[in-house]
Amino acid sequence: MNTIRDYFQSIEADLKEWRQELHQNPELAFEEHWTSDFVAEKLKSFGYEPVRGLGGTGVVATISNGEGPSVGLRADMDALPILEQTNLPFASKNSGKMHACGHDGHMTMLLAAARYFAESRDFQGTLHFIFQPAEEGEAGADAMIKDGLFEQFPVQEVYGLHNWPGLEEGSFAGRVGPQMAAFDVFEIKITGQGAHAAMPHLGKDLLLAAANIQSQLQSIIARSVDPLDTGVVSVTQIHGGDAWNVLPSEVIMRGCTRHFTSKVQDLIEQQMSEICQGVARSFGISVDLDYMRRYPSTVNTERETEIALSAAKAVAGEDKVSDTLPPSMASEDFAFMLQKKPGCYLWVGAGSTEGGCMLHSPTYTFNDKILAPGAAWWVNVAKTALKRGTSA
Ligand SMILES: [Zn+2]
Ligand SMILES: [Zn+2]
Repeated sequence: MNTIRDYFQSIEADLKEWRQELHQNPELAFEEHWTSDFVAEKLKSFGYEPVRGLGGTGVVATISNGEGPSVGLRADMDALPILEQTNLPFASKNSGKMHACGHDGHMTMLLAAARYFAESRDFQGTLHFIFQPAEEGEAGADAMIKDGLFEQFPVQEVYGLHNWPGLEEGSFAGRVGPQMAAFDVFEIKITGQGAHAAMPHLGKDLLLAAANIQSQLQSIIARSVDPLDTGVVSVTQIHGGDAWNVLPSEVIMRGCTRHFTSKVQDLIEQQMSEICQGVARSFGISVDLDYMRRYPSTVNTERETEIALSAAKAVAGEDKVSDTLPPSMASEDFAFMLQKKPGCYLWVGAGSTEGGCMLHSPTYTFNDKILAPGAAWWVNVAKTALKRGTSA
């Protein structure tokens, strides 16, 4: 595999140029028009005929060589609403928008792999390169799936890669089972008869009801979830009242939940609903819960994780690959693809977080030194997956 890594090392200057051009032109979720053009043009220059428009700005390119299985390789394209503070010569030209999650690097690594396969054709089967919009909270993966991604481009399995600051530069980590948490958001609307604060018996105290709901919500994780499972329920907003001496007639509570399994997710939603109904009954008020499921948990399957890790070992060496790092409570919309297809979402170490080099930080900088190992992993994981044949 070192020859593949050497190949990417030899074209590293090109890769840096692509990455830095993408970095200068960040676009937010579902607005990746320039980005989509850039990706499609590069793919065409390698000889592909990219298909545009899935999920709005999505781009998919396919290469086939003889009979064999079909594998999906996915990169994300969107940037974040962050004002960049890196002072880099190629910093964002779009004020208030920034590639602060490294999706510029992810696109570059996958484009590099697409170029490699177009030039070498040393594989058997079919590869679909999937460039996906709107990873950051807007579920672009789900949008592509709903637009027929896997009907138009049937794949047996699918892989994703994310740079991970804090993990040794060029190392890899991934595990079987949940890699990233699911996240949901909720709004609780409490309504009832307000009252003079000196005469509470003439109305309802919705703030006291909110306090009851808030404290009861914390019993869900503590008392209802199996202690060996995990989850978080966080109330992050309570809005109600605007006078010293008036009990309000409406209170709004909002927050989010995190969890790794649908069992815990279902349980949290069910218990929240029961707590709200219980408080409504005991206070004689209305409590309406709007529980909105956002991203499912990103769950890696066993066979594909083994393929992803063995591909990583060939690129970085045995001792630079971990299958025991704990999962992250952050979330990722590759989860939608993993709900449809077996696959693996892996982290490639981006090195030190010094100087605020953390994901979603205005001082984050993608580490260009991991472009070559990341691209080499893409080639290796594709080849390994195709060689292993069908999972059936
Ligand atoms: Zn992000
Ligand atoms: Zn990201």
